[in-house]
Amino acid sequence: MGNFLERLEHDLNAPIQVRGFGSGWFAGFFALLFAVSGFAMVVELRYPAWFAMPELQVIKDWPGFRTAVHLVLLASYALALLSLLLRPRKVLGATALAIGLAAALLGGSNVQPSETASWGMFFGLDFFVVNLLVTGFMFAPIERFWPHRPGQRLFRIEWREDLFYFLVSTMMVQLFAFLALAPQAYVNSQTSNWDQFRLWVANLPWIVQFVLAVILSDLFQYWYHRAFHRVPFLWGFHAVHHSAKAMDWLAGARMHFVEIVLLRAVTSLPLFTLGFAPSVLQAYIGFVYVYSSLLHANLAGDFDGLGHWIATPRFHHWHHGLEKEAVDVNFAIHLPLIDKLFGTFHLPPGRWPQNYGVPEAVPHGYWAQAKYPFVRKASG
Ligand SMILES: [Zn+2]
Ligand SMILES: [Zn+2]
Repeated sequence: MGNFLERLEHDLNAPIQVRGFGSGWFAGFFALLFAVSGFAMVVELRYPAWFAMPELQVIKDWPGFRTAVHLVLLASYALALLSLLLRPRKVLGATALAIGLAAALLGGSNVQPSETASWGMFFGLDFFVVNLLVTGFMFAPIERFWPHRPGQRLFRIEWREDLFYFLVSTMMVQLFAFLALAPQAYVNSQTSNWDQFRLWVANLPWIVQFVLAVILSDLFQYWYHRAFHRVPFLWGFHAVHHSAKAMDWLAGARMHFVEIVLLRAVTSLPLFTLGFAPSVLQAYIGFVYVYSSLLHANLAGDFDGLGHWIATPRFHHWHHGLEKEAVDVNFAIHLPLIDKLFGTFHLPPGRWPQNYGVPEAVPHGYWAQAKYPFVRKASG
């Protein structure tokens, strides 16, 4: 124990040369800070009698307190993982992760404000961890056994960048699930004459609602996606997603955060306002995350018959192709039929695109790409 504390102290006091930006030191430091604060906050919620100071009661009565606890713990998780990835010395990240886990075991921010309760698993730390584990441990082996490009390594070029995107987008689901409640409540209150219709939708069999959710959100997604290809300013955001030169399950996560927020808003709007059961929404969001990893995965298999009905990896790989025939095709992410309807379907039998990416020079690195749409010079 003494030895461990020594190592922790040693790394906290690491010389400036080994704690520069990108070394994982800042991530580890803030992970630890958030983990300790989050832990203290959870203890306070769990054992209120220990902290019976009237000054603290004001904070505990604040309705956003549990949300704050939750966000603090989430941030500590993400930063701890980042630090573990970047930093050769694992003591900072591992300690933060352990404290964060202890806080989660104590119940985390457990009891949610009533309006977020229906979001269940998506507003829990569970989703963050589950998404990473399920997606990673599912696709990494499958890609190894059935690769489209066998030479491609798991830890290919830019994988750290894409993993960071993955962490961010998982956090975004949570944030979005929370932010979307307000507009949903507003729209529903303005359209009370639809209540009868919403009731009808909510009473449809669960699986029918799910299938309808897939169809409706892909229809909205199709036009949203097409607009991001057509409008030059929007393309600046979407070019980031298309800048991946190698395709695998992780590459799909590369998406500008503005695009994620708008995409989720646009595709969930019909689901929010037409009365779909919350469990259908939850299932769809989980489904879309796993499915989009599948679409980008480095997976062999032409599935020619299937690819005309359901989006397959080869169908979406054509969307990412660099060659001329791949420009502005296959916008749908579930149903190729939508592309057929609007004349953008492209799936030449048995062929894959030769190269992936965009003809313009999108910079490397998360932050440079975050700025890219605002500094990009429109090319023709
Ligand atoms: Zn696209
Ligand atoms: Zn894609």
